[in-house]
Amino acid sequence: MSISRATLEALDRDDRLAAFRDEFDLPPGVIYLDGNSLGALPKATRGRLARAVDQEWGRGLIRSWNDAGWIDLPQRLGAQISGLIGAQEDEVVVADSTSVNIFKLAAAAVRMRPGRRVILSEPGNFPTDLYMIQGLSDLLGGAVELRTVERDRIAEALGPDVALLLLTQVHYKTGALHDMAALTARAHAAGALTLWDLSHSAGALDVDLNGAGADFAIGCGYKYLNGGPGAPAFLFVARRHQDQAVQPLSGWMGHAAPFDFVDSYRPAAGIRRHLCGTPSILGMTALAEGVSILTRAAMQDIRAKSQRMGDIFITLVEQMCDQAGFALISPRDAGQRGSHVSLSHPDGYAIMQALIARGVIGDFRAPDALRFGFTPLYLGYADLWDAVSHLAAIMATGEYRQDRFQIRAAVT
Ligand SMILES: *Cc1c(COP(=O)(O)O)cnc(C)c1O
Repeated sequence: MSISRATLEALDRDDRLAAFRDEFDLPPGVIYLDGNSLGALPKATRGRLARAVDQEWGRGLIRSWNDAGWIDLPQRLGAQISGLIGAQEDEVVVADSTSVNIFKLAAAAVRMRPGRRVILSEPGNFPTDLYMIQGLSDLLGGAVELRTVERDRIAEALGPDVALLLLTQVHYKTGALHDMAALTARAHAAGALTLWDLSHSAGALDVDLNGAGADFAIGCGYKYLNGGPGAPAFLFVARRHQDQAVQPLSGWMGHAAPFDFVDSYRPAAGIRRHLCGTPSILGMTALAEGVSILTRAAMQDIRAKSQRMGDIFITLVEQMCDQAGFALISPRDAGQRGSHVSLSHPDGYAIMQALIARGVIGDFRAPDALRFGFTPLYLGYADLWDAVSHLAAIMATGEYRQDRFQIRAAVT
């Protein structure tokens, strides 16, 4: 059954999330399919940042740490994010980058499982997740070992030597979704803890950390949370672990009494011990705007629209580009998929450059994946029709073979 643009226009007219599109500042003529990599700019962010710079910083100066509530912003923003990921308000804090938070929480977790030396993950996990564990392992002189096993073998690999299972809930390349509840239960049965990377989940899926019994999680502020380039990241520590979990980057902002200025480190109670240094206030202020939009939308509506968009996109590619040589590398079943769809093609890089030149922005992941992200708050169904029409035209004319589309940029 083929899909027409009129069908998609009708879906847009019925879309409960349609009004959110006006809250984002998108350039005219652009179809943005990369909100999974860098979320769009919320219109309110510009004014909010101007106020933070002009009033809070410019006029308030150092007084704003108290008067503008800067000092508590990591916890306040963490509490806001907690509602998006099935956590309690005091289980989430905003700090550092996702990479740094992986290091902090993986180290905290292995300290809680003495006698077990393995951190289990999967090959092809997002590189920084694996690299940070390699760095931790080197630092500890091999007392911790990174072991990777293919995703269908993870359950059986959870043996008595495993301290921590580190997985990304939605795979950055394929979009494949892990069963967080089932794998967490399996890890617990084996005596291991879990650390879930929610970089491609938070703001896109109805994540339920406490429903799944998760121990630790981290996630990214600049993807579906629309916090802006290099936005601070968040981390989650289940309440039941908060007294035992001690992270190694023992900076003064995680101290029980930072303004006592004593010489020896004593971790704060609760989630605040997972801070390290002075919070990035302008970054967190921008992130708070992005998050506040999401807290006004129903996550079930976002998930339902995202799944439907993925299904429609796949059908449209098959309908309009059936001879073009694309292979679907994402799960076809929307229940097994996050909020992006990836296609492989040997000329993937050049094809994506040709699409971007036409204003359809996705991205490319080596060696051959074209990635298309669906952000239900600012993308309409008819946009999918227009995007795939451009793709079909590029393939039919061979436009992507032009020299200008072959040159690799630093960021793909
Ligand atoms: C985007 C992403 C990151 C990003 O880490 P940074 O420290 O922000 O660079 C980490 N893990 C996964 C799975 C990601 O998708």
